[in-house]
Amino acid sequence: MLSSGRAHNTLTLALSALMLLLLAAACATPVSGPVVTTGVAETAPGGEATDAHGGGAIHAEDEYDLPDLSPVTLVEGERLRVVATTNILGDVVRNIGGDQIELTTLLPVGADPHSYNATPADLRMLSEAHVIFIVGEGIEESLLPVIENRGGDSALVAVNTGINLMAMDAYEEDEVHEDEPEEAREGDEADHDHGLDPHTWTAVPNVMHWVEIIEHALSELDPANAETYEGAAGAYLAELEALDTEIEAAVAAIPAENRKLVTDHETFGYFAAQYGFEIIGTVIPSFSTLAAPSAQELAALQRQLEAEGVRAIFVGSTVSPTLAQQIANDVGVRVTPLYSDSLSTSDGPAATYIDLMRYNVASILAALE
Ligand SMILES: [Zn+2]
Repeated sequence: MLSSGRAHNTLTLALSALMLLLLAAACATPVSGPVVTTGVAETAPGGEATDAHGGGAIHAEDEYDLPDLSPVTLVEGERLRVVATTNILGDVVRNIGGDQIELTTLLPVGADPHSYNATPADLRMLSEAHVIFIVGEGIEESLLPVIENRGGDSALVAVNTGINLMAMDAYEEDEVHEDEPEEAREGDEADHDHGLDPHTWTAVPNVMHWVEIIEHALSELDPANAETYEGAAGAYLAELEALDTEIEAAVAAIPAENRKLVTDHETFGYFAAQYGFEIIGTVIPSFSTLAAPSAQELAALQRQLEAEGVRAIFVGSTVSPTLAQQIANDVGVRVTPLYSDSLSTSDGPAATYIDLMRYNVASILAALE
């Protein structure tokens, strides 16, 4: 069946969190959820204390900080100048801002958000913007220092703010270097700082949360168009909700024992948690494409692929498929291309976020059914 109790509970949690968020947005700035003294978000409705990070549950219990946003003075004919970093985020912003805003998306199609560096034109856009939307939590790891040191007085808004992010241990419990003494391991862990998974958009409810944040920010900065932003956000949220339902129905066709994903880097954790898949392993065992796997890690992955009877390795368009292809050849599985960190070109199969999700689900379905 498509919805395990957990997936259903998680969705319910995410929706209630959205409701809280809406209420909070209506009442106060900055957006804040009700303050709860215990770590309620750490415990899933089913009582699983350690595995409650998945599925896009929003951290509504914690107050979270959006920057103070006050109305911008716009002269006749001037529109709010908005910059978005990744092209997936840019598409979501466009759906809410429409023609009311002057939107610049920094990352071209196919660019890797982990390694992308700003161009001189980007620097100008950043310094002239009224507001800059980033995904946040480390996805723009090469770009962020430049953004933080931008000139001008634009607001910086991270749309992942308030999402209950997954840590690496939600994927792998054996991320321990067994040949090292305990103290060295701790140091090692700190050095590498695996951090939290920024790839939130692979679960649709998280993008619904982005929509709330973007609508809130645009309306605060440009109150004259607040009603338009609200209307557009409402229409887009309805589309996203339908998309989420559509994905749940589609993955129900995949036998439970086949719902195993192997990806190029750690990109599909939220997708897996939301739609009932298991992440068996990744070619690059990191949230970042800037990391590289060791020979031992590759050998372990190969053994896992064989042991689990995995059918395919999924590789995003922003990552070189060479290594994945070698492993796939050795094990005798196929490589299936997906779009994880970037949209496709406008005439490609993943020109919008919604198309991207549909394309990925159809490809996963074709590989695992
Ligand atoms: Zn990535």
